[in-house]
Amino acid sequence: MHPAHRGNVVLGKVGWSPLKSLWWTCMASISAIGGWATFSWSAFALFLLATATVLLFGHSLGSHRKLIHDSFGCPKWLEYVLVYAGVQVGLAGPLGLLAQHNLRDYAQRQPDCHDYLRHGRTFWRDGWWQLHGELTLDDPPVLPIPEAIAQDRFYRFLERTWMLQQIPPALVLYALGGWAFVIWGVCARITAGVTGHWLIGYFAHNHGGMHQIVDGAAVQGHNVKFASLLTMGESWHNNHHAWPGSAKLGLYPGEWDPGWWALMLFKRMGWVWRLRLPADCPPRAELRCQDKSLPIIATTTAVPASATVRSTLAASMRLLAQRRHAVLQGPCVGLPEQWLQRLAGETTHVVRVPAQARLVLRYGSHHISGLPALLVAVGARNAWTAAGAIVLLPLAMMCELVRDQFQA
Ligand SMILES: [Zn+2]
Ligand SMILES: [Zn+2]
Repeated sequence: MHPAHRGNVVLGKVGWSPLKSLWWTCMASISAIGGWATFSWSAFALFLLATATVLLFGHSLGSHRKLIHDSFGCPKWLEYVLVYAGVQVGLAGPLGLLAQHNLRDYAQRQPDCHDYLRHGRTFWRDGWWQLHGELTLDDPPVLPIPEAIAQDRFYRFLERTWMLQQIPPALVLYALGGWAFVIWGVCARITAGVTGHWLIGYFAHNHGGMHQIVDGAAVQGHNVKFASLLTMGESWHNNHHAWPGSAKLGLYPGEWDPGWWALMLFKRMGWVWRLRLPADCPPRAELRCQDKSLPIIATTTAVPASATVRSTLAASMRLLAQRRHAVLQGPCVGLPEQWLQRLAGETTHVVRVPAQARLVLRYGSHHISGLPALLVAVGARNAWTAAGAIVLLPLAMMCELVRDQFQA
């Protein structure tokens, strides 16, 4: 991103932003009071489903990976559907969101920037700033938006009407389930999306692991491991700071990235192409790798070939019947080594192998990989767990097959 005017990203004032503040406060109050009064399990299930859908397809794929970073190609109709879903998060219009993101990206890469732009103050101060405030820089940089986006009539329409865009889903939800569905499916969803966006922004610039350091940058991105599924992969923010143009955010073994899984599904349907990976991004001299031993899955073939269904089944049944001593090796990223060891019990010895993409259970000349490996390791504890594991084994094997399809 080349600024038309470099400006100054350090000097400025944070003031109250009435529209932003009232929008969030109204949504949060309605959710708290109305949500309590109208609670039902179906409304709550709707809230979970609507929030996950909007975050995955809208925010992660539409707004962030497509509109802002153009990290993959897709037909115009799909781009519009995804960006429309992104507007449903309730953060801003598409052009406003793009401008905010460009400013933050640019500012965070400078040697210094305002604390507002790098989430540099205490937790509560940052919350007040990001949910209720607005930064006015004394001399803001001028960061051009691509002409094709800035002049797009649909995006300009959404930019003018982004708050009103909550009305169509609200009407549909009212017809389906009355006020309970509107409160849980719209107000609570917006509250969760906007609050979650701030929370992850705060943590991803202050706490969490780092694979790469961007030399000379005002702030580093961090990988917030526990939030990977909740944020649809967006919480691998250290990876994102290193390669902003990559369509894949979970780049290392064990880094779950639902947004990427959805893209793999779209790819199978022929809906997306030109998916950019770190290897396709321009090289950056300022990147300093923190752990060279870790291979990026997206550029190497670190994923071991999965065993065939029949051999997995045979090996699993044999181990569950005999409950022999086995070794469970894995990256231990999703689940720490000690937890795995506690789950697996005494029959299985857990070994952390950071470079390995997925779990592998070995005994004798046999090996089982992925989810079935974990299931069989836990199942081998005693006769009861073995029975449970046998019942669940087909499901675990199916999950593993689906995962094979989406692994790139
Ligand atoms: Zn960042
Ligand atoms: Zn970004």
